[in-house]
Amino acid sequence: MSRTRAVFFDVDFTLIHPGPMFQGEGYRDFCARHGLGTCNPGAFEAAVASASSLLDESDDHAYDPALFIRYIRHLLEKMGASGPGLDACAEEIYREWAACHHFSLYDDVLPTLRALRARGLLLGLISNTHRSLETFASHFELDQLVSASVSSCEHGYNKPHPSIFRTALRLLAVPPEEAVMVGDSYRHDIEGARAVGMRGILLRRSAAPLGPGELGVRPGGDTLPHQPGQSEAPPYVPVVTTLQEVIELI
Ligand SMILES: [Mg+2]
Repeated sequence: MSRTRAVFFDVDFTLIHPGPMFQGEGYRDFCARHGLGTCNPGAFEAAVASASSLLDESDDHAYDPALFIRYIRHLLEKMGASGPGLDACAEEIYREWAACHHFSLYDDVLPTLRALRARGLLLGLISNTHRSLETFASHFELDQLVSASVSSCEHGYNKPHPSIFRTALRLLAVPPEEAVMVGDSYRHDIEGARAVGMRGILLRRSAAPLGPGELGVRPGGDTLPHQPGQSEAPPYVPVVTTLQEVIELI
């Protein structure tokens, strides 16, 4: 196996998680401000589950704010919101999602990134987002640790499009076989990275059941069997529950 020189991280739900503004009660407050009727915070989890496939609707993976706004609008409707202000409300939520102060860093991020940098590894960020990753890195005091970042909004394509991974690799001048992608989305982070020859580590922070798109991941296990047709891809994808486990795997 090639020596690892670079580790790339997804951002949302890998390094940071949203505060209450982007959960059931926060969405209810947005709806109230926009006069959208009764929005039930208790329906939030089910709404998220029913909306997840909307983010994969675009075949070419081009970055399109309308896709994210449709996703948010769907969440609001599933929570019971209705009215002419739905789009304006969804657009406001989309804009606020870019603001770092609504988010918190997971506790394992700084110790893990520092440990990886102390080993001489280069670190990068690859995120499907309209958030400025430079602002993100300085807000959370990661700017001394992270050497390159690519946001899909600036780049033009979302993960799993190969060009976003190749651009990030180019920025660090590291070939794919010497790079690892760590993220919480099997489809966006792991499949995308593997398709360009990087290795992937799937972060599964909660004990949530594996999704239907994660065929081959063994519940309770730590490996993903080799995918048919990916003769160049490494045979296994480790699954970790904390970022600190990544240190042992590099
Ligand atoms: Mg994520």
